[in-house]
Amino acid sequence: MGIPSSVTVVEVGPRDGLQNLGQFLETEKKIQLLRLLIQSGVKRIEATSFVHPKAVPQFRDAKEVMKAVIDEPGVRLRALVPNLRGARDALSCGVRDLSFVFSVSESHNQNNVNRSREASLQELKEILELRKTTPDLSVQVSLATTFGCPFEGEIPEGEIVKYVGRTQDLGVDTITLADTVGFGNPRQVRSILQRCLREFPSVTFGVHFHNTRGLGLANTLVSLEEGVALLDSSIGGLGGCPFAPGATGNIATEDLVFMLDGMGIQTGIQIEGLFRATQFLKDHLVDLPITSALFKAGLPIPKGKAPICKAG
Ligand code: ZN
Repeated sequence: MGIPSSVTVVEVGPRDGLQNLGQFLETEKKIQLLRLLIQSGVKRIEATSFVHPKAVPQFRDAKEVMKAVIDEPGVRLRALVPNLRGARDALSCGVRDLSFVFSVSESHNQNNVNRSREASLQELKEILELRKTTPDLSVQVSLATTFGCPFEGEIPEGEIVKYVGRTQDLGVDTITLADTVGFGNPRQVRSILQRCLREFPSVTFGVHFHNTRGLGLANTLVSLEEGVALLDSSIGGLGGCPFAPGATGNIATEDLVFMLDGMGIQTGIQIEGLFRATQFLKDHLVDLPITSALFKAGLPIPKGKAPICKAG
């Protein structure tokens, strides 16, 4: 499997990025952020999470946000749902692209969604039933802590394969392997991906890397080499998980697109547009943890325009 010539970048900043912030981003600003991302050419966005407002107060306006942008042309807006109730709420706003999250680690699943893995799988089964009455509904699964858990450490590959298999058996054809707390390294990522791709050839795999320990892009590169073409990232490198101690931002969308552009891999996204979205967040949020290296350093000077250095 060679490196793909084009990939789908899923912008998860409005969900994964905002959920860990102490400051509530006003509904109108969330909508403006989504519009800026769409203007930059992003075609898939995880726009919010239909989670209980007590668990993540940032998303108490999930319905208003979704209703405002769901009809934007040329873009697929995804919502994260941890349970059947969230899925029903998302459907009522016109959302047809759901990401159901559960963890391969039992203790993280208990901390993150307050139930056992078995209970999550049962919930997933019920969500998938909704496809009978809503045929255009697409449900993918995000498998949290695939590359390590803050409570249990490394998860045995056999355990990962088991839960990928059970998810597939329920009728899910797209699974994103998530490094929720940024424990993964390139060798491990390659090993897990190779095994999953070999054992589940009909599943489309995506990856979701946090850059907690600086290995996010290295892990992404290995995933590309294994043929993965569905990549999550977050504008400005925002991100985290309120229920995963030590988790920080996802790989920054600007940094990812910069790398993909340089490698000649098509995304359809304009970096200048992403900069506008990051600047917008910086202007409206206090103490914003922008970790994007590209946003800080700027784009390199184009060839032929570099100033001549006379100092030698
Ligand atoms: Zn995440």
